[in-house]
This record gives sequence, structure tokens and C-alpha cells, in this order.
Amino acid sequence: MFDFSIVGGGMVGATMALGLNELGFKVALIEANKPKEFEASQEPDKRVSAINLHSEQLLNKLGAWQFIQQMRVCVYRRLSVWDEESCRTDFSCQSIGKSHLGHIIENRIVQLGLLGAIEKTSNITCFWDHKVDSIQSENVTTIKLNNGVKVNSKIVVGADGGNSLVRQMANIGVQGWQYNQQALAINIKTNTPQQDITWQQFTPKGPIAYLPLYDSYGSLVWYNHAKDVQHLKNLTKDKLKQEILKTFPDDLVDFDVLSVTSFPLTRMHANQYSKHNTVLVGDAAHTINPLAGQGVNLGFKDIAVLLEELSKKLDTLGHTKVLEPANQHTWMASYEKRRRKHNLSMMSGMDLLYAAFSNDVAPLKLIRNLGLKLANRAGLLKKQALKYAIGLNE
Ligand SMILES: Cc1cc2nc3c(=O)[nH]c(=O)nc-3n(C[C@H](O)[C@H](O)[C@H](O)COP(=O)(O)OP(=O)(O)OC[C@H]3O[C@@H](n4cnc5c(N)ncnc54)[C@H](O)[C@@H]3O)c2cc1C
Repeated sequence: MFDFSIVGGGMVGATMALGLNELGFKVALIEANKPKEFEASQEPDKRVSAINLHSEQLLNKLGAWQFIQQMRVCVYRRLSVWDEESCRTDFSCQSIGKSHLGHIIENRIVQLGLLGAIEKTSNITCFWDHKVDSIQSENVTTIKLNNGVKVNSKIVVGADGGNSLVRQMANIGVQGWQYNQQALAINIKTNTPQQDITWQQFTPKGPIAYLPLYDSYGSLVWYNHAKDVQHLKNLTKDKLKQEILKTFPDDLVDFDVLSVTSFPLTRMHANQYSKHNTVLVGDAAHTINPLAGQGVNLGFKDIAVLLEELSKKLDTLGHTKVLEPANQHTWMASYEKRRRKHNLSMMSGMDLLYAAFSNDVAPLKLIRNLGLKLANRAGLLKKQALKYAIGLNE
């Protein structure tokens, strides 16, 4: 019998496993797709994330950061945002006394780094390449895997992403919508050395962004309507490059297209983060417009808070009692209280930004450009916004 079973060994679930192990719990981690082993010669993956300073600190504390860094990461120290070229807002790590703002890392590399740390523990049992088929919950939960194996635990953590089966099995509803646009993610190779700046331009058709990757690689994100995304995806690499050159600003250095993929954009918020002995974290609880690269960083914050609330109760109740039905709701409710408000305000903030910038309405254009110009000069406000973005302010 496990104390916790975690469904989903993505970036969030694997981090949760390490955190619970550190608190002395016996953990089962169930993941449908074991990440492919790292080889330095592999081209960059299609899924990458900006990992902020708060997330880095958590990954470091749990022993995964050293493994991640040994593979490949790209540090970024500067951030530039603009609409009209003359109204840029530039952020830098020096302005807040930090050595950097974050790292852009392939999701799989983060996951593999976590796996490296998990392999050093003795209290985490991994069920790789096993999909959860069904979950039956009484006081103890039995999770049935697709190979017939049954995993029993006192608590179930849903870290199984936006389409969470755990959430559905617990009968937790959601609110949200699919955005009209999709994100086209294009990996490129340039002839320049590794960059330390990430930038985003807001255009009336949606944001376009550049994220530097390790060595001379980079990732472009291009918001577009589904029909246009499909058209662009069907182009040859050379033709796609021509379309990129027509749309992206001169900041983009010369490049070759390596790969292209697209993602639907969904806003989703679970009506509850916990029910009986089930608790949701990361994308299973919320998905957000990736406009400012906050999604997984919110998931890491969920974990930090959940572990903090659990550990407070652990001090007074001890390992067995803290998991009993009568006590579960106390730490789960404190977790939800702290995280729901923050996640919701981040979601709404992104929507406001998206709605205000992705149009050509003249008065709005004037206001937002004025705003960006003022923001560039407003020292304290700018520092606060930056700290918020890198996760150092709640
Ligand atoms: C275009 C785009 C760009 C983004 N950029 C950023 C960024 O820059 N910064 C950022 O912070 N976030 C970003 N995000 C968001 C980020 O990718 C997600 O928030 C993050 O992947 C969520 O992690 P997770 O572990 O919660 O869920 P997931 O990554 O979805 O992982 C869930 C895991 O559960 C497993 N699973 C699912 N069902 C089952 C089952 N039944 N049985 C067993 N296993 C199961 C899956 O195999 C998967 O490994 C971006 C998202 C998109 C779409």
C-alpha cells in the first residue's frame, strides 16, 4: 500500500513525487509514456518551456536541477516586449539584482532531470509506460493499469494534464474554453552563438515570439487562426521560412527551419482542486494561455504550496494521521485556498493582455503603446512586473 499514487509523470507529477519522498511518504508514480533517453546529438524537441527562477529553485531543492543542467538548457537574462517598434519594454536581470531571469528548456529534459533524481531515491516506485484505465475510490483507492496491475494508495494525485482522467473519475467539473487561435511552434537553427534574450511582439493577428534554445537553436511561437496554422504547417521548410521572414521582426537572425508543430490553446479551470482523497496539480487543475510562458511554472507553485501545507499538518499529526480521511481535507483545502486565487488571476491577466493586444482597434493601440512606453520608464512598477513573471512575487 502506497501513501500517495501520482497519475502522470510529466514535469509536474515527477516533481510532486520527489517532494512527497522528501517528506517521507511512500509514493507510486504512474506514467503512460517514459521519456526517451537523452543523447547530445538529438535535435531539440518540439515542446519547450520557459522555466522561471522560482521553479528552478524548487527543482534545485529537490535534486533535479543538477541533472537538467548536465544535459542542455538555455539561460535568458533579457526580455523584450513590444507592439509598435518605438514602444519597446526591455527587462533585464540586472534591474532586479539577479544573475538571470530563467531558462528555456525542452520539457523532456526537465522530465529526464527529475527522473535522474527519482532514481536516487528509495521510496518512489515508478510504473513507466503504464496507462491508468480505471480508479476506484473508497477509503483506499485502487488504480487499475492497462496491464491489469492494481496500485493501492491512501491519496491520489492527478498530475495527468489538461484532459485529466483522475479529474473526470473524481467527478470534478471544469470551466473554460478553447481560444480561436492556435500556437504554431517552429524550431530553428541559426548561425549565431547561443542567445540570452527572449522577445515577443504583439501584432493585430496575435503574438509572435522568439525563445532561444541551447547552442544556436531557437523556438519561434506564432499565434494564428486554425486554418492559417494548417496552411503554414503544410508548406515546405523553405516556403515556411519565407512566410516567417514576412511576419517576424528584424530582430530574428538568419535561420533554417528544423521542425514545426501546433498546439490548441485552452483555458481550463477545475471547479475544485480536491475531492475526498483526490487532489489535482498542474495542468490537471488549470491550463492557461501560454502567452507569457506561465503554465508549468504555475504547476510548480501548486506543488510548493501543497507540500508546505501538508508539511505543516505533518508536524502536528504525523505520517499516518495526516492522511486519514478526517484530516485530508485540512491541508488540501489550505492548498486550494492559496493557489486558486493566484492561478485565476494569472489566467485572467493573460486573457486581458491577449484581448488588449491582438487587435487593430485604433484607441486600444494608442493606449497599449503608451502603456508600454510608460512601463519602460516606470522603474518600480517594471521591477514588480518582472518579479511576478519570474515567480518571485505571489
Ligand atoms: C505552445 C505552448 C507553449 C508553452 N510554453 C510554456 C512556457 O514557456 N512556460 C511554461 O511554464 N509553460 C508553458 N506551457 C505550458 C506547459 O507545457 C504545461 O503547463 C505543462 O506541460 C504541464 O505539465 P503537467 O505535468 O501538469 O502536464 P503534462 O505535461 O500534460 O503531463 C501529463 C502527463 O500525464 C501522463 N498521463 C496522462 N494521462 C495518463 C494516464 N491515464 N495514465 C498515465 N499517465 C497519464 C502523460 O503521458 C503526461 O506525461 C506551454 C504550453 C503550450 C501549449
